[in-house]
Amino acid sequence: MANIAFIGVGNMGGPMAANLVKAQHKVRAFDLSPDNLARAEAAGAERAASLADAVKGADVVVTMLPAGPEVRAVYLGEGGIVASVDPGTLLIDASTIDVESARAVAAGAAAAGFAMLDAPVSGGVGGAAAGTLTFMCGGTEEAFARAEPILQHMGKTIVLAGASGAGQAAKICNNMILGISMIAVSEGFNLAEKLGLDPQKLFDVASRSSGQCWSLTNYCPVPGPVPASPANRDYQAGFTAAMMAKDMRLSQQAAQAAGAVTPLGAAAAQLYGLMNAAGRGQQDFSGIIRLLAGR
Ligand code: NAD
Repeated sequence: MANIAFIGVGNMGGPMAANLVKAQHKVRAFDLSPDNLARAEAAGAERAASLADAVKGADVVVTMLPAGPEVRAVYLGEGGIVASVDPGTLLIDASTIDVESARAVAAGAAAAGFAMLDAPVSGGVGGAAAGTLTFMCGGTEEAFARAEPILQHMGKTIVLAGASGAGQAAKICNNMILGISMIAVSEGFNLAEKLGLDPQKLFDVASRSSGQCWSLTNYCPVPGPVPASPANRDYQAGFTAAMMAKDMRLSQQAAQAAGAVTPLGAAAAQLYGLMNAAGRGQQDFSGIIRLLAGR
């Protein structure tokens, strides 16, 4: 049993912290949202009065925050984790943030003598609740070896992708592929409709042909062929268009900084941004099919 401080118990962090409690760890939670903190308490976590209070005496700190600025402030700001935590504590940031912030925060932690991993996840709120997330980690092998037994209580697949920032790099490359492929599949179904082709027939053919991909076979953007996909519940979000727009923006920032040519990523970033600007940010990202159809 470890003493774990969990900072950021929102849609993802809440169920992740609950799984650590179920695994008999002692979890102290802190969040700016009193409602989210109350939910974490109801799931068996102790409620901390402040960030510093949460991390005091912790063996491990896990953070699950919105974006890079929050992660920088929570780790490196005044009264932040690095200033408040006991020597030897392992730091794990599971938020999805830009590679540069991940590297800067890990460097700040290392300068103060702390081991840190970036460990963004895929699997969504369903995976967080079920404890089946995929963790993509960046950091040293020693830090990864210490983190793995903790992450196993929240995820099924845990991969060390490389040095600090590599976890975030793996996450945004994967999500850029996903964002582009969902648009490609949506365009295929929209064209099929105009051509009078039954969507189920397109699915039957493409899912066994060279158009096969996860966006088609696991998350089909038209109702019918894949009963579990959000298209069957009016695009109620599993993964929101707003989150996809954020990840696509991160991929484009990284592409610019690294000099990578990603024209389809750039176009996809614009389209999810448009969906968000059209007031559809809280819908599932597969609802992009309706935007592309002019609906
Ligand atoms: P969320 O907004 O539900 O939760 C974030 C929590 O952080 C909130 O409770 C907020 O109050 C808290 N917070 C913000 N600033 C804080 C601070 N300074 N101190 C303490 N608490 C603070 O978001 P989420 O859906 O849980 O996503 C969290 C991260 O996980 C994001 O980086 C997101 O991109 C990533 N992610 C989300 C999903 C998903 O499907 N929701 C999937 C994979 C990855």
